[in-house]
Amino acid sequence: MALAVILFFSLAQYAMGADNNSVWKIHDWSRPRPAVITPPTPSTPQQVGLAPSDAVVLFDGSGLSNWRAMDGGPAKWIVKDGYMESVKGAGYIRTLRGFGDCQLHIEFMTPTPPHGSSQGRGNSGVFLMGKYEVQVLDSYDNITYADGQCSAIYGQYPPQVNACRKPGEWQTYDIIFKAPRFDENGDLLQPARITVLQNGVLTQDNVEIKGPTAWCSRVPYSKHPQKLPLALQDHGNPVRYRNIWVRELPAKGAPDAYRKELIFGAKELQKYVGVYKRKGGGQITIKMKDNMLFASHPGGASGHPLYAESQNRFYSKFVDLEYEFTFTGDQVGSVKLNVAHAGWQEYKRVK
Ligand code: MG
Repeated sequence: MALAVILFFSLAQYAMGADNNSVWKIHDWSRPRPAVITPPTPSTPQQVGLAPSDAVVLFDGSGLSNWRAMDGGPAKWIVKDGYMESVKGAGYIRTLRGFGDCQLHIEFMTPTPPHGSSQGRGNSGVFLMGKYEVQVLDSYDNITYADGQCSAIYGQYPPQVNACRKPGEWQTYDIIFKAPRFDENGDLLQPARITVLQNGVLTQDNVEIKGPTAWCSRVPYSKHPQKLPLALQDHGNPVRYRNIWVRELPAKGAPDAYRKELIFGAKELQKYVGVYKRKGGGQITIKMKDNMLFASHPGGASGHPLYAESQNRFYSKFVDLEYEFTFTGDQVGSVKLNVAHAGWQEYKRVK
């Protein structure tokens, strides 16, 4: 009897300590279980590892199909023996796809024998959203300013420790990034946050990024899309990268958090710009603004941004509208529109 009473009180106390806001009971058998994935195979110095099964593989050594020059043109870095290498003067490269909140794995190697000193030795960089740099530098036996050494959030936070391997050895970054949030007026709601592990060692512990990283200046935040390409820096030194993968993280309140979002250059987007008409009435006008396509429908949704899932398929995030473009050679000839999954309607290009 006494035992039952004690047990009752301890269970009651335990229940009181539980999160009252949770919709789930403690040990709720009906609570959905997380997806089962295959974890990554880590790289060894000789052998490149494998991405986890739910990751987007950005580079597996086979080519630069997921990468572009910053203007959307072809990426001109070298691909050789399972790695890519930055080429002096070729410029930064960026992913075709945009990412917001994510977990990123990337491996890098600074040149051996080392050349130059301070910021001139093995300099490159991993730019989340093309704006927020985790510095890549040969900081093995190479002194520079603390907030510019390897694993620094450039110009903002030195790493907690210098965990660099020697030049010519493969190193890893595991990065957890939370994108900044802006309201409709462009005011900052929440700054970006970042956690970095270099070679398995914590170097940045959920720090608040103060704005886009820059040399010798503090740049304030300015509103940008929820997803933007990841970029790698050409700083004139032949730095190598391999085994790059990213896992998108669920962003609260972000529509289509996991839906693929490709970022084309202005030249490519120009192909879709025009007026499209349907037999028996109806018109879609596609325009370009700030390197994005906008579709407007007379008497319907006006000027909403279009997001690319592929070369043919675009979608709206805010209205249930799907667009399927058809190419004739290099020209867009028509677009099919599906409103609220009611069925596809074809519009021929007239302008
Ligand atoms: Mg750099």
